[in-house]
Amino acid sequence: PPGTPVLHAFAVKATPLVPVLRLLYEEGIGAEVASPGELALARAAGVPARHTVLDSPAKTPDELRRALSLGIAVNVDNPQELARLDGLIPPAGPRAPVGLRVNPQVRAGAIEALSTATATSKFGVALRDAGAREWVVRAYLDRPWLTRLHAHTGSQGVALSLMARGVAEAYALAEEINRRAGRRQVDTLDIGGGLPVNFASDATGPTHAQYARLLSEAVPGLFDGRYGLVTEFGRSLLAKHGTVVARVEYAKNAGGRPVAVTHAGVQVATRTVYAPGAWPLRIAAYDAEGRPKEGPAVVQDVAGPACFAGDLLAQGQSLPRLDQGDYAAALDTGAYYFAHHYAYNSLPRPAVHGFAPDGRGGVVFSLVRGEQTPEEIVAEAGGGSPDALTRFPAVRRPAPRP
Ligand SMILES: *Cc1c(COP(=O)(O)O)cnc(C)c1O
Repeated sequence: PPGTPVLHAFAVKATPLVPVLRLLYEEGIGAEVASPGELALARAAGVPARHTVLDSPAKTPDELRRALSLGIAVNVDNPQELARLDGLIPPAGPRAPVGLRVNPQVRAGAIEALSTATATSKFGVALRDAGAREWVVRAYLDRPWLTRLHAHTGSQGVALSLMARGVAEAYALAEEINRRAGRRQVDTLDIGGGLPVNFASDATGPTHAQYARLLSEAVPGLFDGRYGLVTEFGRSLLAKHGTVVARVEYAKNAGGRPVAVTHAGVQVATRTVYAPGAWPLRIAAYDAEGRPKEGPAVVQDVAGPACFAGDLLAQGQSLPRLDQGDYAAALDTGAYYFAHHYAYNSLPRPAVHGFAPDGRGGVVFSLVRGEQTPEEIVAEAGGGSPDALTRFPAVRRPAPRP
């Protein structure tokens, strides 16, 4: 209903780029942060504290203190963290809302590493463990300043129905807390993110609208205006809005299979390279002029530049044969890909360019992030202190042999 407080907070880890966060903020979207670095990015983008949510599973006392003093909403992960907060929150209560993250333990999705709601997931308070539910309710009754409840049950590979069950569990718990408190103590539900993305075609789905419909059927009370709402979508907001484009440096053959050697591999597509079964990417082929390649589809590998055999962006994919000087585009990589650089082989972080129609049928580009230079790589690799290991005064080392 109109007037219901809603904050859509973008999960910064999905695309940690300041201009992206600024763009989203101007569209009305805040930031979900899980580290001091992510918080710094959100602040650099101008996202105000009241549009920011802190969710890290390993918050230090300093991080908690800083979040409290800035007025950032905090979702507490576990009993020890709650005990820490007890010592930090002033008698008048916190400046910003504080909630507790629970794990409804509904079960795993298709990708184990991304399943946040298994029995043994590391996140939140495991709600079905012996005594846990009662502990949670007591924690609220003892702390009038705990006003939110958080559950992030989904991620890539988790079915919508399972996500909805996780939200339903959190909702039922909020109702129980409020009943026992005899007042509307929990006033906001943070339902996390996790809407899966279709990496198999250009179609977008499931959509946020479908998820909202499913939630309104599965958890009718969620949208009746009694609860404020926070969401934390990441991948589903940006995956389809980014593409990695890599030049084919060489086209070769090995064992009868064509292999296009490109500049995009494990450094920009870490998950795909290490877990290709869970994270397949579609590759589109373009010629040296940037026109879509025509011609019969050929089964080929698209390799990256790193020095290990598994550095493949795509394995045995059917597409028009890539030749030297062509371009390979890894589609749907706007979240959790190029922005998550993996520094294997000291490969540089690539430049990121934004683009938009120029209003005259063309396209304009804008540099979001420049390419990392060799000087920056050296500086980040201890280049400022080359003799850090050779100048220990008390260590006598043999003289170099002639
Ligand atoms: C990663 C994460 C999200 C975002 O997940 P997506 O799958 O990118 O939507 C939201 N909330 C929390 C707590 C997360 O860890």
